[in-house]
Amino acid sequence: MNFRIGQGYDIHRLVEGRDLILGGVQIPYHKGLLGHSDADVLLHAITDAMLGALGLGDIGTHFPDTDPEYEGADSLMLLQKSYDLVQIKGYRLVNADSTILAEQPKLKPFIPKIRECIADALSTDISSISVKATTGEKMGFIGREEGIAAQAVVLLKEI
Ligand code: MG
Repeated sequence: MNFRIGQGYDIHRLVEGRDLILGGVQIPYHKGLLGHSDADVLLHAITDAMLGALGLGDIGTHFPDTDPEYEGADSLMLLQKSYDLVQIKGYRLVNADSTILAEQPKLKPFIPKIRECIADALSTDISSISVKATTGEKMGFIGREEGIAAQAVVLLKEI
């Protein structure tokens, strides 16, 4: 059986006046992430990992931030479009594991909903989608709450 692994990393700046959307879930907070799309840093990392596993480039290649079509885009849609490409290439998701790096807000209460949202978008079981969260221990740009980052790995198998 042929397996492929991919990793993804993304970061967005935290600013006033934007909604905070992580893993397709709106998180109540007084700041949100800045970006051309909805700036869902977690979904961008997972999407990049998925594309990377098959050497299909990155999210910016497929959905350029210069394209008005993707202004304010729902990143769940970008993830689904990328997974469509994966399936066209003859692969399916085995599992995804990810970590959100955020000093604030506390994300633990939202993790089950985020996992469910991603699993639904990919028509997979919630047990295949792992989402974790950690802080920057008040160090660096994460610790200073300048932004939120996310890392992801995905495993695909040929069908
Ligand atoms: Mg991004």
